[in-house]
Amino acid sequence: MKKYRILLMSLIATLIILFSSFYKVSAAGERYTLFPGNNRMSSAPYNKYYYYDGGISGIAYNSGVEGAFTSWSNTSNTYIWMMHTSKQSSSIVDVHSVNISDANILGQTWFMNGSTQISPYSGTRWYWAKIEMNINGNWTVNNGTTSANNVFKASVAHEIGHAFGLDHSIYEDTLMYDNVIFATKYNIFGPTAAEVAGVQTLYGKRY
Ligand SMILES: [Zn+2]
Repeated sequence: MKKYRILLMSLIATLIILFSSFYKVSAAGERYTLFPGNNRMSSAPYNKYYYYDGGISGIAYNSGVEGAFTSWSNTSNTYIWMMHTSKQSSSIVDVHSVNISDANILGQTWFMNGSTQISPYSGTRWYWAKIEMNINGNWTVNNGTTSANNVFKASVAHEIGHAFGLDHSIYEDTLMYDNVIFATKYNIFGPTAAEVAGVQTLYGKRY
């Protein structure tokens, strides 16, 4: 009788484990992708500073960068809230305009510890991130429906998502899709519910 009970209990435990891993899989219908081990910035980007410099011909650069950060700061119930600083040393997310010859590359993000670049796939957390926006980027990839300024802002918002720890999503109607079609086709210029869920997984909910 006693033995039977132990068997029954371990059967129940197994079922609970099976069910919870199954449940986890279906919950991942949340449409974001994280780096391995949920790797992220070493501390939440809350009450922290961003810095930017540079400019891109024909683009409202400063307001685009600020608008992208504002779209992230406006996400409710997240530890994402950043302020602008003109002092680079205070910043944990820097945005620069750079010259990349491939016009299809709109922006890229580097993950940094001090002056050392790290891979977000290495399992090492990073202290700050450096975003580079391409002076030669094809910002008019807009099918006549979305302004170049909006494509730029959306691209900065996408790179900020990387800086916070989001990898590319497989869903084209989310900010972290690896093609700016999310802006030109779906009018997404900032984080969606998918990205909010992603950063909540990484840094927790605020309330
Ligand atoms: Zn990307």
